[in-house]
Amino acid sequence: MTFINPKVTPIYQSSVFKFQDLDELDEYFADTSSRYLYSRNGNPNSDELADAVNALEGGAGAVATSSGMATIFAAILAYCQAGDHVLCAVDIYGGSAALLNTELSRMGITVTYVPFEQLYDLGPLCQPSTRLLLAETMSNPLLRVADLGRLAAHCHALGLKLVVDNTFASPVLTRPLQLGADISLHSVTKYIAGHSDVTAGVTVAADPEVAARLKQIGVLYGLTLSPMESWLAVRGLKTLHLRMREHSHNALAVATMLAAHPAVRAVYYPGLPTHAQHALAAEQGGGLFGGMLSFKLADDREVVSNFMRRTERFPFAPSLAGVDSSLSYPLGTSHRALTAEQQQELGITTGLVRLSVGIEPVEELLADLRQALNA
Ligand SMILES: *Cc1c(COP(=O)(O)O)cnc(C)c1O
Repeated sequence: MTFINPKVTPIYQSSVFKFQDLDELDEYFADTSSRYLYSRNGNPNSDELADAVNALEGGAGAVATSSGMATIFAAILAYCQAGDHVLCAVDIYGGSAALLNTELSRMGITVTYVPFEQLYDLGPLCQPSTRLLLAETMSNPLLRVADLGRLAAHCHALGLKLVVDNTFASPVLTRPLQLGADISLHSVTKYIAGHSDVTAGVTVAADPEVAARLKQIGVLYGLTLSPMESWLAVRGLKTLHLRMREHSHNALAVATMLAAHPAVRAVYYPGLPTHAQHALAAEQGGGLFGGMLSFKLADDREVVSNFMRRTERFPFAPSLAGVDSSLSYPLGTSHRALTAEQQQELGITTGLVRLSVGIEPVEELLADLRQALNA
C-alpha cells in the first residue's frame, strides 16, 4: 500500500466527485462538509482559499468567487432583494458603481452615493428600505481612508449592515470584521493572489448565517471559483505578509521621493504625514500603508504620456497589486465613463497618475521614476 501525503494541496481539477454507494451519498447530504459532490457546490481548492482568507479576517465563513465583481454581487444579494436601497461611498471602485447602476437597479435595488465627508452622517440619506453601506477601506485613486470602527458603529445605530471592500488594504493591514463590519470582501485578483495571474474574489461574513447565505448565492448563481485559480491564489496568499511589508516599504520611499520632486504637484499616500487621514491610516493599518499611491503631474496629456513612455519599471497596465510595479491612468481607464463634473468632484484630473508599487529593489524603482520625471 502506498501512502501519498502531499505537503501542498494538489489541484483537484475535477468537476465532479465519486460515491461508492448510497450510504456515502446520504453521508454527504447529512453533512455537506463531509465530502465533495460537484465542484460548483464545493471543491477542496476553493474551500482552502475561502478558509484561509476567513481565518486571516477572523470571519465566521467565506466563499471564494470567480472575480471581485462576483464577490461584490454576492455580498449585496446576501442582504438585499427587490425594493431595497443601498448606500455606497461615492469614490467606490468603478465596477461596483456600474453593477449597482446598470444591473442591480434592473432587479429593483436602488442606490444613493455618499460623499466622503458625509460617511459618518448617513441618517439623512436613509430610507425605510435602506439595508447597507458599501465602502472601501482605502479609496481609489486618492487613497482616502475610512474609519471602519466609527463607520460600523454608525451603520449599526441606523440598522444598516456595513460591507467593506478591503482589496486595497488586504487583511495584513486591516481586518474590517474585527472593527465591527458585517462583511469584508476582496478582489483576490489584487494583493491576495498578488502576481497578476489570477482573477478571483472572496467574501467573508462575521455571521455564520450570512456566510451560509453567501455560499448558497455562490452555488445557485454559479459564481464559484475554479480549482486552478483557487490553487494559484492559495499559493500567492502564503507570501501575503511578506509582500505587504515590502509593498508598503517601497511605496513610502516612492511617495517621499515624489513629494519632493519639482515636476510633481501633489502626492496621495496615507503613509505621508501630510495625508488627511494619516493618523487613522497608521492606526488602522498597524503602521503599514500598502503599495498604492497617486500623484499629480501638470494637467497636460503630453506630460503624462511622456512619463509613461519613459518609465521602464512602471508599465501602464490598468490593474494593481502585483509583485511587479505598474501604473494606471484613472481619467482614461477606471473613471473614463464618469461625467466631467463627477471626475472633477473625485479629483480625477488630466495629470493624475496612479502607481501600484511592487516589491522590486526600491533603489531601482526610485532611479527609474527620477529619470522618467526629469525628462
Ligand atoms: C479590481 C477591484 C474590484 C473588482 O475585482 P475583479 O477581480 O476585477 O472582478 C473590486 N474592488 C476593488 C477595490 C478593486 O480594485
